[in-house]
Amino acid sequence: MKDSLEQGALKIIDTLLKHGYEAYMVGGCVRDKLLNRPVKDYDIATSALPERVERLFARTIPTGLQHGTVTVVIEGQPYEVTTFRKEDVYEDHRRPTEVQYIDSLNEDLRRRDFTMNAMAIDYEGNLLDPFHGTEDIRNGILRCVGEASERFQEDALRMLRCIRFAAEYRLVVEDQTWNALCEHAPLLKHIAMERVRMEMERMMAGASPNRAIELLSSSNVLQNSKVPLLIANMKRMTTLCDTSQLIHPLERWSYLYLVLGIEAVAVEEELRLMTFSKQQIDAVRLPIAAAAYLGSHLHDVSELNVREVERQWKLAAIQYGKESLQALVHILSLDGSGAQHAGVMVQVSSLCVNEGLRWLQEMPVDKLVGLHISGGDLIARIGAPAGPWVAKVLQQMLRETALGVIPNEKEVLLEKAEHYYKEHYSAGM
Ligand code: ATP
Ligand code: MG
Repeated sequence: MKDSLEQGALKIIDTLLKHGYEAYMVGGCVRDKLLNRPVKDYDIATSALPERVERLFARTIPTGLQHGTVTVVIEGQPYEVTTFRKEDVYEDHRRPTEVQYIDSLNEDLRRRDFTMNAMAIDYEGNLLDPFHGTEDIRNGILRCVGEASERFQEDALRMLRCIRFAAEYRLVVEDQTWNALCEHAPLLKHIAMERVRMEMERMMAGASPNRAIELLSSSNVLQNSKVPLLIANMKRMTTLCDTSQLIHPLERWSYLYLVLGIEAVAVEEELRLMTFSKQQIDAVRLPIAAAAYLGSHLHDVSELNVREVERQWKLAAIQYGKESLQALVHILSLDGSGAQHAGVMVQVSSLCVNEGLRWLQEMPVDKLVGLHISGGDLIARIGAPAGPWVAKVLQQMLRETALGVIPNEKEVLLEKAEHYYKEHYSAGM
């Protein structure tokens, strides 16, 4: 049974064939079909020039015209249709911005990175595999098309792709390919951090992040990024639990940085340089900051008691957000000593794993917006001009409410707030 995504691809190929052009499914979709993996998208290679492709289909988007790619939309689904091409002028170890169109499928396949990515399927379903990708797949081998050393020199991003594919598909990198990768590791400095980040994100979100980390580390590739990365010090991670057990990819990043003992501020800066979004950065750094908070507030073993751990845990939830503490529970469940560099003792860690989620659930409120008084209410009650005291008093009320010391009720809160204000602010004012 062909699904509708594949039927759309066949429709495009059929149209191109009827107009006298060659057209095939190529690249990742062919590989994934042979591996019986779900196909995310079908890419099509054709002898028709991009302008011709644009005229043949009702809905097209000129996605990458300079690379010969037109997106054709069939029943709402986008397909990348790319003219057979050669990439013979590589500049600065990156893929060229200009390409040369050719009329041979084989030549088009030759420019591709790995044998398993250099296969095509025609309209009838015949496999075209000039570089023996099927054989390599069968043997569990990842191999460059042609001379590996040249291929990595042409485009250094291929080194990261190699590691990603080897990890994701659990393949052994063929010797020459691996040696060439290690030899050309310094070329990674030519690749924009954004592209490095995109590959890293996929490795970390994939099926075998630990294997990716191992390969990154043993090849020294990441040590050569344009902007030096602390995460490249992976060799320091002697014990790393199976990161793939963490469901959320960003928790995997937090875990790595925690194990490496890198502080939240440095993590933030590094992820910014890697072009992660603000939202992603917060998701990674806040659990690390929360761990550091717990580490520094619960350091004296002799004084350690459950009540105090609970109190600090809840205060951390106010400061760093409940989601960050949830993430921390996941991380510490995976690796009880994962936050030891942040000062979190194993006893604290196991308490938080066992009780942390319940403590979070128990909290009647964890953010100022949930508090049943506002700054305006406070000013009206106390009758003092607005100032920094407002936020401070509100924060104190939030802490007390969150810890269950006082109920989240307007009248009680106002009374408490007034009392607190008089104690801390009115005397000197
Ligand atoms: P996935 O989408 O799962 O990453 P993919 O193989 O489809 O896998 P794409 O980046 O979508 O990867 O690229 C499509 C095809 O283009 C690849 O299968 C490969 O043939 C070719 N290709 C992509 N990037 C490169 C590259 N840097 N060098 C050579 N060929 C490449
Ligand atoms: Mg793809």
